[in-house]
Amino acid sequence: MSVRTLQIDNPLVVPDSLGYFRFGELDEWKVLTNDAGEWHALKTEDFHSLLQGKISDEHPEYISLQRKGFIRSDLDLEALADKVRRKKQWMGQGPHLAVVITTLRCNQSCKYCHASRTDMDRVDTDMSLETAKKVVDHAMHSPSPYLNFEFQGGEPTVNMDIIKFIVDYSREKNKYEKKILDHSLVTNMTYMNDENAKWVMDNGILICTSLDGPEQVHNFNRTWQKNSNAYENVLKWIKHFNQCYVDMGRDPELWHVDALMTTTKKSIENWKEIIDLYVELGIRNIHLRPLNPFGFASKTWRAIGYTQQEYLEFYETCLDYILELNQQGVQICEGTASIFLKKMLTPYDPNFVDIRSPVGSGTGQMAYNYDGSIYPSDEGRMVSAMGDEIFRLGTVDDLTMTEAMQHPTVRSLAIASCLDALPQCSDCWNAPYCGVRPLHNYMHTGDLFGQRPNTFKCVEHMGISKILIKRLVEDTDGSVESVFRRWVVDRPRDTNT
Ligand code: SF4
Repeated sequence: MSVRTLQIDNPLVVPDSLGYFRFGELDEWKVLTNDAGEWHALKTEDFHSLLQGKISDEHPEYISLQRKGFIRSDLDLEALADKVRRKKQWMGQGPHLAVVITTLRCNQSCKYCHASRTDMDRVDTDMSLETAKKVVDHAMHSPSPYLNFEFQGGEPTVNMDIIKFIVDYSREKNKYEKKILDHSLVTNMTYMNDENAKWVMDNGILICTSLDGPEQVHNFNRTWQKNSNAYENVLKWIKHFNQCYVDMGRDPELWHVDALMTTTKKSIENWKEIIDLYVELGIRNIHLRPLNPFGFASKTWRAIGYTQQEYLEFYETCLDYILELNQQGVQICEGTASIFLKKMLTPYDPNFVDIRSPVGSGTGQMAYNYDGSIYPSDEGRMVSAMGDEIFRLGTVDDLTMTEAMQHPTVRSLAIASCLDALPQCSDCWNAPYCGVRPLHNYMHTGDLFGQRPNTFKCVEHMGISKILIKRLVEDTDGSVESVFRRWVVDRPRDTNT
C-alpha cells in the first residue's frame, strides 16, 4: 500500500508533511523507501506518529527522515531529483553486455544445464568467422560507452579461434569507436590448455568460472567424462591464473578469477565447506545463485531441487557466516548482497542487467547465438533451445542494433519489468532495489508478467532485502555496516589491454 492511498483513507494524516514513499513490515519495524533508494526503519509507534504529522524537528529520527526525503518540510527537491537521476543514469545508454555463444558444444554435462548444449561432435553448432565479424559489428553499434563481450556456450573455449578473432577485431574497431572495452570468458576450465591460458593472460581477458564447492559437490553437480575429475581441473586453473596475476604485479583485489556457484540440494548440505573452500583459494567474491527452476524432468528436480524457503534459509546461513569471517579479517563478499547493498547504501545502481527496472533484456544486454540469431538475453536463447522462438529478435544479417533495441519484444519485456507500473511492485518497499525477470515468468507460467507472490525472483529478492536491512537495523556497533560498505566500493580496473 502506498502512502498516497493512506492519505485519502486516513483523516489523521497531514498530507503536506510527508514525502512520497513506500513502506512495508519487517518484524517490529516499518521500512520506508523512496525512488532515490533511501530507506529508513521506524518502530511502529514512530511510524504512526510520522503519518499523523506528530514527528517534530526535536524527534531523534526527524533529521534523518527529512534528509532522506520522507518528510517534506525544507525538502530540497532538486537534490532529490538528482539522486533519482543518478540511480537511473544507465537508462537509455543501450546494451553494455554482448553475450556471445561461440559454440553449443560442451565437454561437460552438468545436472542443472538446460537444453542449450550439444555433444562434442556437433561442429555444426560452432560460430563461423563470418558470423563472428557481423556480431562484433552489430554489438559495437550499441550507444553504450562501455561494452563487455562475454563469451559463453556450450563451453566457449571449444571454439577458441572465434574468441581470439572477436577480441582482435573488436579492439581494432575500437580504435575508432573509442568505447571502454572488456572481454570476459565464462569457462568450465576443463578444456583449458597452456597455450590458451597464456593467450588469455597476455590479452587481459577477464575470467569467470564455475566452482560449486568441494570435490563431492562440484563433481556431483558438474558431470564430466568418465574417470575424470572436473573439480581438480578447475582448481588447478584457478590457482594458475591467480598466480599469473600475482607474478604480473597486478592487484589481486581487482585481478582474479571470478567464480560462480550454483546451488543444488547437495550445496545446501555442504554450505560451510563451500565457503571455506572459496576462502582457502583466496577468492574474494562468492556469488550465491539459486537454480533456474525450469525445464527439469521431475526426477532431476527431486535429486537437486529445493523449495524457495530452503534456499532463503541457506542464503541467510551463508551470509551470516561470510559476515562473521569478514569480522575476523577475511576479505570475501557475497555477490547478490553486493548488488542490493550498492542500491541501498550508495547514490548509485550497479546496472546489473538482471536486477534492475526495467530489466536489461535488449536494453542492457544482447545475446548472439552461434548462428547469428539475436536474443534480448541468454535466457531468451535458452527458451529457443527448448523449442520456442518467441524471444528471437532476428539475426545479425537482417536487424540493426537500433531495430533490435526498439523491437516489440524488447518493449514488451521493458513494460513487463517496469516496477513503477507493475501491480504489487509499484507499492512494494523493495521496488528501489528489486528487479523482475519476465523471461523467468514466461518459462514458469507462460506469461511475461507473472503473479508477484508466486514468482521465484519476488520471493528471493524480498527475502534477501529483508535479511540485509535487518542486519543493518540490528547493527548496534556499526560493524556490519562497515563490512557492507567495503562490499560496495568500486575500484576501477585498467581496461583496453
Ligand atoms: S518483485 Fe516482489 S519484492 Fe520485487 S518489487 Fe515486486 S513485489 Fe516487491
